[in-house]
Amino acid sequence: MMIGKDTPRRLSIFGSTGSIGQNTLDVVQQLGGRDSFDISVVTGNENVELLAQQAKASGARLAVTANDGKYEALKAELSGSGIAVAAGVSGLGEAADMEADWVMAAIVGTAGLAPTLAAARRGATIALANKECLVSAGDLFVDAVKAGGGQLIPVDSEHSAIFQSLDEAQRHAVERIILTASGGPFRTWSRAEMANVTVATARAHPNWSMGLKISIGSASMFNKALEMIEAKHLFDVRPDQIEVIVHPQSIIHSMVGYTDGSVIAQLGSPDMRTAIGYALDYPRRPQLNVERLDFAKLSRLDFEAPDEERFPALRLARTALERGGLQGAIMNAAEEVAFHAFVDERIGFLQMADIAEAVMDRMVGTGGARSMDDVFAADAEARRLAAEVVAINEKAA
Ligand code: NAD
Ligand code: MG
Repeated sequence: MMIGKDTPRRLSIFGSTGSIGQNTLDVVQQLGGRDSFDISVVTGNENVELLAQQAKASGARLAVTANDGKYEALKAELSGSGIAVAAGVSGLGEAADMEADWVMAAIVGTAGLAPTLAAARRGATIALANKECLVSAGDLFVDAVKAGGGQLIPVDSEHSAIFQSLDEAQRHAVERIILTASGGPFRTWSRAEMANVTVATARAHPNWSMGLKISIGSASMFNKALEMIEAKHLFDVRPDQIEVIVHPQSIIHSMVGYTDGSVIAQLGSPDMRTAIGYALDYPRRPQLNVERLDFAKLSRLDFEAPDEERFPALRLARTALERGGLQGAIMNAAEEVAFHAFVDERIGFLQMADIAEAVMDRMVGTGGARSMDDVFAADAEARRLAAEVVAINEKAA
């Protein structure tokens, strides 16, 4: 096994119990397990049974639950194992401080920002699934990784595709990047039909199996909105160079267009393990047991323009990109509050975008971010305002 050559690559997995986290452990196993990877830390939240099981199976040194209330339960699960246990925000801080060459950043939401940023500052290479931290902290996050001396490798399938298709030697000739979107379960639905959908319908993605937040975000296309902003910071392109095209089969994961008219794409089965494997073994390509594309069976690939009337999240991302500054952080925070309110059945599906837009408009005067303190302050204010707007919407319903 090549990874880490003679010594195993030291890897921490933030959010190991989630969809990306579990796929990461599967890839680690496929690539040689402990011969190739020395797992430093695994972290989870509610499911401490699974977390303990993962810690033991992977030989992790430290297991962290983000939930303070689960500390004793995790400790009990791991008693006698020799694996250290920690919990809460300070536990995630300990996780970030543990020596690791590579960190898989797969916590969902802004909760992933602080530990990922700390690990980046310490010099780890970041395999980034947690797009929210990039949308929120933007260039400050990118700069922190650079300053730490590590690298930022995208795990989001679209951004992995662009990363793979972007020839750094031809950087000057990059004209546009084209993000593909499946369109989600409501691709052909009218707004009237979307108004009363349940969480169960919204989370049922046609192609990908994913965590709850990103599944709902795929249905509303908020996930693509976050990805547009993620792309801007990862690839340092202008907003007008970022295009979105709906491609229902999710076979082309994204593309780069060059000044000579060429378009380079990355294709594959809709399986996150390809992007995860690419990030964990970078700059090599690993041997992976994932389904191969059978073009004769595929027979066709479809494309259609996205509809910003039915999916206003895309318009909001454009607005955030044009306004710049902290609008990405504000959109992200307001959307996270609105997402939880939808899941708790406090607001309807279409109101998620209304809430994000209202908060973005109210905070349009917020300047840019000079430091992470500015990011955290804008995030907190956007959450406060979003909670207010949720409450008003609830009364009105
Ligand atoms: P998930 O909900 O399945 O897992 C989330 C992980 O974060 C779990 O380990 C959970 O325990 C942990 N977590 C939850 N709340 C936390 C908190 N408050 N503090 C610390 N940890 C917490 O999510 P997922 O689908 O695996 O997505 C993870 C990230 O990867 C997201 O940012 C998502 O946008 C991104 N992503 C996911 C996919 C996918 O296929 N699932 C694809 C591309 C990008
Ligand atoms: Mg994606």
